[in-house]
Amino acid sequence: MNKTCPKCAETMPLDRFGRDKNRRDGLNPWCKACNAANARRHGQANREAISAKRKAQYAADPEPARKRVRQYTKRNAQMVRANKRRYYQENRGRHAAYMADYYRRDPRRCLDIIARAKAKKPEYYRLVSAASTTVRRARFRKVQQVPFTAAQLAQRLAYYGNRCWMCGAPAGTVDHVKPIVAGGPNMLANLRPACPPCNSGKAGRWPFQPKASPHT
Ligand SMILES: [Zn+2]
Ligand SMILES: [Zn+2]
Repeated sequence: MNKTCPKCAETMPLDRFGRDKNRRDGLNPWCKACNAANARRHGQANREAISAKRKAQYAADPEPARKRVRQYTKRNAQMVRANKRRYYQENRGRHAAYMADYYRRDPRRCLDIIARAKAKKPEYYRLVSAASTTVRRARFRKVQQVPFTAAQLAQRLAYYGNRCWMCGAPAGTVDHVKPIVAGGPNMLANLRPACPPCNSGKAGRWPFQPKASPHT
């Protein structure tokens, strides 16, 4: 069956018309293309009024808008995450400047956001901080660096069961097998988990032979 759109005067199959349960035939009188064009035209002609109306609605009750964003984010989680990452990479400087400015305006809120993020993923943030410590130390000693992410570091440590590579005790620190002070590079291949006593006992000694290692 076909139906004629009075707007464009074209006769076409019913699936080219949107649904409208208030109409006798259950379909919009105009075809989808004409409806879309009309909505676009209306949006462009009334841009300011529409945006003012949305702002007023948001000010009166932000919850519906936030819910729409949450639902959209959930439905398109992968895309949203990819877009965020790309935007962050392309606008690194702007992002840093924005965050610095935000912090100046409202330090307490910033610290609050950071604290909440850390409380949610304590293990991840422990790794981020461990990774950035190694980068700082390596930069200070001017040794070679091959960048790695916190997730990659986690993988590397998990490879050793998150246990000290020298004594097998639960680790808690990241050891540079060839110490940074001895010119060891800051890269995954040179990193292993270590317990604090073994790590500080080993310190800058190189070459180093552990007494009884489960891994060498
Ligand atoms: Zn039409
Ligand atoms: Zn140990």
